[in-house]
Amino acid sequence: MRAAVFQGNGRLAIEDRPEPVITAPDDVIIAVEACGICGTDVQILNVPPGHPATPGTIMGHEFIGHVTAVGSAVSDLRVGQRVTVDADPKCGACTSCRAGRPANCLNLSALGIFRDGALASHVKAPAGAVYPLSEKPPREIAALIEPLACVVNGTNRAAARPGESVVVFGAGPIGCLFTAVLKAAGATPIVVVEPNATRAAVARAVGADVTVTPDELAVRRAELLPEGADIVVDAGGQPAAGLHRDGRHGRPDHPLRHERQRPATGPPGGDHREGADRPRHLHHQLHLPGGHPAHREWRVGPCADRQ
Ligand SMILES: [Zn+2]
Ligand SMILES: [Zn+2]
Repeated sequence: MRAAVFQGNGRLAIEDRPEPVITAPDDVIIAVEACGICGTDVQILNVPPGHPATPGTIMGHEFIGHVTAVGSAVSDLRVGQRVTVDADPKCGACTSCRAGRPANCLNLSALGIFRDGALASHVKAPAGAVYPLSEKPPREIAALIEPLACVVNGTNRAAARPGESVVVFGAGPIGCLFTAVLKAAGATPIVVVEPNATRAAVARAVGADVTVTPDELAVRRAELLPEGADIVVDAGGQPAAGLHRDGRHGRPDHPLRHERQRPATGPPGGDHREGADRPRHLHHQLHLPGGHPAHREWRVGPCADRQ
């Protein structure tokens, strides 16, 4: 089969690879129907890379497809079934998994990053990470389930309640998914900060009450969020986006929840916002969960059959 292989040092090449075959009792072979390209994929291919990956690995971790073969121990999936896959299969045995924090599994080995993924005709995944999926959603929508699951996880961590105010930095795919999910959760108003007019229009279409550029936010903050925001979502990615993530957007009297997809800089669990000062962060009891890997929330999205 033809496969898009990360060759290291910023190189991606189409190679001929053998189709995956069943080697373990819980293996599932999937014919890929659609596979997205994640910001992580771009980071992997940057020089120097912004995300680690194993050279020689077939890329692609946001995908759907149909089961073509299952191992001898797989009883709840059948050949021909449409499925999606948690691209970060959890081990179920490490201390994090046993403590009920599978997203922090110590033995994660992500498909498309550290083992072969889905930018190919076929991909192999462990049955525990494979979820049945309705035939109804169009492929280009269904392939968004993996990033949507990450966003649902982050939203649940933020414990959004109806009527709470939100500011979302960045209206890329993740920022727009957060906007849509928070809208569905009843959050209002939702203020999206985005310098790109095309992206801002998408954010309004999926639920933003108002979109502003970073400069406009600086002028209109007191008008738009007079008490500050209950929830701050940092989906801006790069400091170069020009977003003024200075930690002054939350309510001064209220524990503010701050969702971030991926710590781009700074230590894990640290305060990753440019210009943020730690005493203020601690004083206001900011909750800074890293909302990256999806786990149980795979079951609560709007698209998959079992959810
Ligand atoms: Zn991804
Ligand atoms: Zn584990």
